[in-house]
Amino acid sequence: MKIWLNGELQELDSARVSVFDHGLTVGDGVFETLKATDGQAFALTRHLDRLARSARGLGLPEPDLDEVRRACAAVLEANPMPLGRLRITYTGGLSPLGSDRGDQGQTLVVALGEVTRRPDSTAVITVPWTRNERSALAGLKTTSYAENVVALARAHEAGASEALFANTVGQLCEGTGSNVFVVLDGEIHTPPVASGCLAGITRALAVEWTGARETDLPLDVLDRADEVFLTSTLRDVQAVHRVDDRQLPGAPGPVTAKAMRIFDERSGDDLDP
Ligand code: PLP
Repeated sequence: MKIWLNGELQELDSARVSVFDHGLTVGDGVFETLKATDGQAFALTRHLDRLARSARGLGLPEPDLDEVRRACAAVLEANPMPLGRLRITYTGGLSPLGSDRGDQGQTLVVALGEVTRRPDSTAVITVPWTRNERSALAGLKTTSYAENVVALARAHEAGASEALFANTVGQLCEGTGSNVFVVLDGEIHTPPVASGCLAGITRALAVEWTGARETDLPLDVLDRADEVFLTSTLRDVQAVHRVDDRQLPGAPGPVTAKAMRIFDERSGDDLDP
């Protein structure tokens, strides 16, 4: 396996990042996960835009997006696989213990992992912890993901694959690594970005392609929604068949099934929508 680290392809086993990297010591970094099918990354331009936006939000120097593009192409070429997850990580770089973020350059890593297709439907839980829609980090894809790791572990203990958060005012927000949609009376709704959720790229495409509305929704909408689905780079559009103890028999329901179909067709037509 070859990865890209700071300007060149390197063997994964011998690539080295400092133990004082600010991304490692304090989570001062941003990242992107892209889907790559047969060596082609999906929605690369949108992912690079969001990487730059997240970096700006953290006050990191602007990443060199030409290098990131070259790195993605090189890693995909060096590691052929039918379905992969391309991971771009960009951090504050070397910063000796006890000091602020250093000015000795940032760390850029691009790596690839193999993935299998997700099932058409899945179970989710809600968790008692909240997303803070007024946090400095709201909407940024930073490497500070420990809260998501804890919530996801709780989901796995409950036999679910995702955990959903409300925000601080009790509105439905998002999952640990996905956005959430509900179907009410035949209409599709998803929380607005102001709820504190990540501006998911799959979410944006699903909104564009299905006409879903961005609506403030209370968390308990999950008790009455006719259908629920998730979106993310690795899930695409995925139906939900259980929320906590509530079963949603027949998932994917008709509206979700149509959204899945539209997403498959449109994303197959255009690699960089
Ligand atoms: N929300 C969070 C917290 C995420 O980490 C992710 C993706 O990893 C998403 C939503 C979905 O975003 P995307 O569709 O861009 O993968």
